[in-house]
Amino acid sequence: MSSHPSQPSGIDSRTVSCTFCDCLLTERLLALQCYPSESTSVPAGVPNDGGLTLCPDCASEVVALLTSWHPHREPSIRTDSSIGDAYQTAASTCSFCTDRTPRAGLGIELYRRVGDELPAYATYTLCEHCQSVFGEFLQSLPSNSRP
Ligand SMILES: [Zn+2]
Ligand SMILES: [Zn+2]
Repeated sequence: MSSHPSQPSGIDSRTVSCTFCDCLLTERLLALQCYPSESTSVPAGVPNDGGLTLCPDCASEVVALLTSWHPHREPSIRTDSSIGDAYQTAASTCSFCTDRTPRAGLGIELYRRVGDELPAYATYTLCEHCQSVFGEFLQSLPSNSRP
């Protein structure tokens, strides 16, 4: 289909595709990166590398969910602990249910270039309970049902 010479060389030539539907992404995308703290792991429904990049179609339900989350201040990343631990430290309550301390927290970094519902950049931390809710939500999305 493509007449470009295939020359896989480094990250510059890498094309980004939607995690859910595999369509090639333009600059209009929603990107989430998950950082589990030491005592937890990436929930089911999130790829093992913790990254989700979604096209506007697939992102719509995720965006709708994220608008109800409460971002916290940007975590200060230190070299002597994991990024997830830095998120957990920055969050006093869970970004989703807001009434639990996010122990075994999952840090989530958001970049948005779709629509106006969300900030362009935000950081969240979820408690253990809400991590599994989030994972189940992602798995329940019709666009995430790969053949
Ligand atoms: Zn998609
Ligand atoms: Zn929670």
